[in-house]
Amino acid sequence: MKIYVIADMEGVSGVVSPEQTGGNTWLYEAARLQYTREIKAVCEAAINAGAEEIYVNDFHGNGLNLVADALPREVLVIKGGFRPSSGYDLLDGTFAGLVMLGIHARSGTYGGVLPHTYSNKLAFEIFGQPVGEFDVLALLAGEKKVPVILISGDSKALEQAGTSLPSTPGVITKYSIGTEGALCMHPDRVCELLRDEMKRAIKIMGSIEPAQISGAIQLKIKVGDVCLSSRIEWIPGVKRLDDVSFEFIGRNMKEVANLMYGCATLIEAKF
Ligand SMILES: [Zn+2]
Repeated sequence: MKIYVIADMEGVSGVVSPEQTGGNTWLYEAARLQYTREIKAVCEAAINAGAEEIYVNDFHGNGLNLVADALPREVLVIKGGFRPSSGYDLLDGTFAGLVMLGIHARSGTYGGVLPHTYSNKLAFEIFGQPVGEFDVLALLAGEKKVPVILISGDSKALEQAGTSLPSTPGVITKYSIGTEGALCMHPDRVCELLRDEMKRAIKIMGSIEPAQISGAIQLKIKVGDVCLSSRIEWIPGVKRLDDVSFEFIGRNMKEVANLMYGCATLIEAKF
């Protein structure tokens, strides 16, 4: 049995501020140790429950956050920045399940901890429904018939995931009380919960349906600042709907996900 783990940092227990998610600070160093501990807890539980191979995608920022030697030897780590596809490299139908750790709420979510969707200056909808990074990754996995078997993050992110992935077990790592504040449990307690839920997830994974999507996909892109609209207009195949909204029709989720990531990269670029 092969398991794929996508790990992000914003939803890790105790992480509430951008100072903890990057840079040369003790806050980042402490956060990446807890990020590693949470991934380790899940990997150990999966191996104990029969997983033979685990891929961990160090999805956050430059992809160089994880302390890999702390993980079990069975684990293979996908690391480094600007990989061909952000977050789902090498994910294919040979994996029995996808685990998403440390997720955050979608762009523009009131009360979510550090909410964004690749950028906090952009928001996206698929067929009129708001989508965040976790939705897109779940749909990408769904296209390959891989179910999302476990998800962890702040309470607001888990509330959103509960609607789009209702049968996926979830672990709340902290209770959001604002975009940069949360009521936090002891980090060891969060690791315990992750271990227990991973064990349960492997038991019930056969009954979790992969996210379903097929055929042409309608994506709406909304820019938070009209001054940035022209950057999206540069992209061929994107149609402007109004001052700040655009539409793209993708042939599959890979096209849609790549376009979303490309839009965010353009929006965040410094010229
Ligand atoms: Zn992140």
